[in-house]
Parts: sequence; C-alpha cells; structure tokens
Amino acid sequence: MNFVGRHVLSVDQFDREAIDRVFRISDEMEPYAHRKRITRVLEGAILGNMFFEASTRTRISFGCAFNLLGGDVRETTEVKASSLAKGESLFDTARVLSGYSDIIVMRHPEAGSVAEFASASRVPVINAGDGPNEHPSQALLDLYTIRKEMAARGRRIDRLRIAMIGDLRYGRAVHSLCKLLGKFDGIQFNLVSPPGLEAPDDITEGLRSRGHQISLMHELAEGIHHVDILYVTRTQEERFPTQEEADRYRGLFRLNQTVYTENCEPNTVIMHPLPRDSRAQANELDADLDQNPNLAIFRQTDNGVLLRMALFALILDVADEVHNHARPVTWYTAKRIPRR
Ligand code: ASP
Repeated sequence: MNFVGRHVLSVDQFDREAIDRVFRISDEMEPYAHRKRITRVLEGAILGNMFFEASTRTRISFGCAFNLLGGDVRETTEVKASSLAKGESLFDTARVLSGYSDIIVMRHPEAGSVAEFASASRVPVINAGDGPNEHPSQALLDLYTIRKEMAARGRRIDRLRIAMIGDLRYGRAVHSLCKLLGKFDGIQFNLVSPPGLEAPDDITEGLRSRGHQISLMHELAEGIHHVDILYVTRTQEERFPTQEEADRYRGLFRLNQTVYTENCEPNTVIMHPLPRDSRAQANELDADLDQNPNLAIFRQTDNGVLLRMALFALILDVADEVHNHARPVTWYTAKRIPRR
C-alpha cells in the first residue's frame, strides 16, 4: 500500500505489510511522544480536525499527534456549530475545508459519510468514526496494543484468542478490529453479546470465510474462559432508535475483579476502546480492576498518539524525515519516564 496522499476510510485498505509499516513507524515516534525529542517535520502544515459527533480521546490524540510532528490544528467539534446545521452538503463542506487544510480527520454520525466527504476533498481524509460503520485508527491502535501485550507474553497476533464483549452490533471499534484481526491466521473469536446486539453478519461471515473460529455467545462467564484478550465495549446508546431500547441492554455484562479471577486465565489482557460507562446502571468495566496490571486501557490511549503520528507521517510523506528535524526537549516533563 502506498500511503502518500491516500485517504484512510476503512481497515479493508490495509494488508499485513501495510500494518507492519504503520507499526514500525509508530515505534519510531516514541521519543517524540515521550518528550525526549522534538521534531518540527510538519512545520507549516494544518490539520482540519472535524468532529461532528462527541469525542474526547480520538479528537485530542489526533490533534496532539499532529502538534508533536510540528503542525498546527484547526478544529470544529459539533454539528450545531458548523454550517452542516444550516443545510450545507458534505460536498460543499469538504471543498471548503480542504482548501484550508493539508489533511483532514473527520468523525460523523452517519455510516458512509466520511467516504462521501473524502470524495469531494482535495486533501487526504482520515475516518475517525462514521456512525456504527468503522473506526480504522482505533482498530490500528488496538492491534498495535495487542501486538505489544502479546509480545510481552512471548506470543504473536497469529493464533490469538479474543473475546469481544458487549454491543457488537453498533460498536464500530469492534467492527474495524474484527476485520483487521481477520487478516492474521487462526484467530479464535468469542463474540459475546446480549441477544439482539450480535455483530453484523457480513463481519462474522467474512471471518468464517478466512478460516477463523467464531463462537457466538450470550453469557459473559462462558465467553471469557480460555482467551488471551478481553475487549470490553459499552452499549452505544446514541445509536439506538429509542432510549428505552438502549436501556434494556444497560448493565447486562459487568466485568470486575471477582468475575475476572473466577473465570479468566492468569494474565488475560483487558482492553476497552473507551469511554467506559462508569454510571452505576452500566459499569461494564469496574474501577476495581484499575490496579490489575493486565488492564491495558491506558496503554491503548498512549499508543493511540504514536499510531496517529505514524499515519500522518506516512500520508504526508515525511516518515523518513522525522529525525532530521529533531532536537532535544529542554523543559521539565514527567513524560520522559519510560512507559510500558
Ligand atoms: N470511542 C469509541 C468510538 O468512538 C468507542 C465508544 O464510543 O464506545 O467508537
């Protein structure tokens, strides 16, 4: 895959060679993300960070990643505050915003909207989540995290055993991660959801046709036995036709230290794309797991910056130049402390 000038709309675009390349460049970003060195390789470049749906991590980490490469960020955070609220088409918005930016990151509540936007854009566009459809950069950072966590246990991604837990119907992070893992060999997927929130058929069929082992399950305790990774998700209540319907699924699956100890193999990794829904009625991932060393959720968010820096560097064709523009950091920063 040639990254230069390309949109990133779906994980379908990535083959294993492309994934390796992104991960290699992500590794190289560590000194900059950990504030050991500064690079100004994207000095003068502008990122249009366009979020037409709620976001904390994805928006801020894309923005930080661009800043860490020396570029500037302009952003909009709500449909209400943009001209889409005045009836402007995605086509017009794309033509206008691409005139102001060198690259655009976009999130929008409708499936397919980011691809439609990209078709009118004169600069590369990265899909930061289009409704229930896809979230490619989340899946890439999740896979990058899985690779690191498994390497620390002397394992590889091939032959991984993973439980995907929760709202698998509307969870775009799950959809993209399933497709991405599907490119590896011999993966065992325990797809653990309440009845009615199963993963879409095209995803499960796609995985089966590649020879992976799929088990559809409705019980949490059964699904989390004998796996390497637990990938917990929240109910995507903003995607349900009514709040009453979303409420029916709230709090059905709750992972806490007791459930973990009783059912999981030692050292099973716990992941979540975040935000976890910590309200008492939901609480799919209990705070009593926060001291569990296998809880990888904040390693995921740290890895997101490296991964997003790598995407920018590859798409804007500066991956080989980053170190030529580097100098030491001079200010005090606790971030220099190495993290696992
Ligand atoms: N942050 C992820 C997403 O935007 C997961 C979630 O919202 O539950 O898809």
